[in-house]
Amino acid sequence: MKNIYSYTKEDLVSYFLNREEKSFKATQVFEWLYQKRENNVENWSNIKKEIQEQLKEDFSFVMPKIVKREKEKQTEKYLIELNDQEHIEAVLMRQVYGNSVCVSSQVGCNMGCAFCESGRLKKIRNLETYEMVCQILLIEKIIQERISSVVIMGIGEPLDNYENVLRFIKIINDAKGIAIGARHITLSTCGLVPQIKRLMEEPFQINLAISLHASNQDLRSKLMGVNKVYNLTLLMQTIAEYIKKTNRRVTIEYVMLNNVNDRIENAIELANLLKGLNVYVNLIPYNETNHLEFKKSSKNQIMKFYDTLKKNKINVTIRKEFGSNISAACGQLRSKEVEK
Ligand code: SAH
Repeated sequence: MKNIYSYTKEDLVSYFLNREEKSFKATQVFEWLYQKRENNVENWSNIKKEIQEQLKEDFSFVMPKIVKREKEKQTEKYLIELNDQEHIEAVLMRQVYGNSVCVSSQVGCNMGCAFCESGRLKKIRNLETYEMVCQILLIEKIIQERISSVVIMGIGEPLDNYENVLRFIKIINDAKGIAIGARHITLSTCGLVPQIKRLMEEPFQINLAISLHASNQDLRSKLMGVNKVYNLTLLMQTIAEYIKKTNRRVTIEYVMLNNVNDRIENAIELANLLKGLNVYVNLIPYNETNHLEFKKSSKNQIMKFYDTLKKNKINVTIRKEFGSNISAACGQLRSKEVEK
């Protein structure tokens, strides 16, 4: 039985039409779930008793649970237990422009980036759409505030769970759903080329972020297993194609690893790679983890790297560090839980 929070409005329209009911019932269901936030069908006062009964028979309404909450300044990290007792994480970041949530898309990850904690534990399964939708609903409920932007940058590779992630985006973007504007939704990928090509054909205007993290082929292959399948040249061609097709600026993420990819030569190489493309680079201070040998670049080195990109006319920002003391980085909370 499928969970109700996995259904887009279009899915519910076909559900009702198949039962020879009016399609506007789909909108009513969305209003109960996402505007009134009423999880108990019996309280859906404008829905007849027999349809309420049918809905209870056809759908599960069970949500995952928040089992742990850690706070540090403007960051809150949530450990969420799924209905099959697996764990994932979601992070709330209070920004000047509103509340932003980083959602997970898989339990574990198979992409195998050398510096990443999530990859160390391997993928157990994809998240269902409702398990992503509920990350937002649960956090909004606990903080009693709205979330205004979503980044799909938690545990997992979203484009390795394409269908479910797309349905998730449709539900949170729906005006009758959680109503988060497409421009406030960012999907981050390690560079799965066929899925990026698929994404450029989709009819919505979300932001795409690419985890590049290296300025040349050899270095990227050492850091990111995915480069052996879709190499840097192919990825750069695909990014150019994406920008041409969608007319949207793409974010290039570059995690700063001490003495690995943070030399001035790397910055020059990166500038050459990106020259003429409508992109901006987001330099990410590395969040160190106990299990991996990588170290963060010094502030001074990050500044030098930043200046070199600027001098070469590349748009660049440095990511604000959120919650490094509460293991908010990428799978660290979940891995503590798994290893208990
Ligand atoms: N799989 C997707 C999204 C999840 S990872 C992707 O690769 O983009 C989100 C971002 O965090 C990626 O850029 C990833 O490389 C980066 N990251 C992973 N571990 C990190 C760490 N310890 N410190 C800083 N960034 C990290």
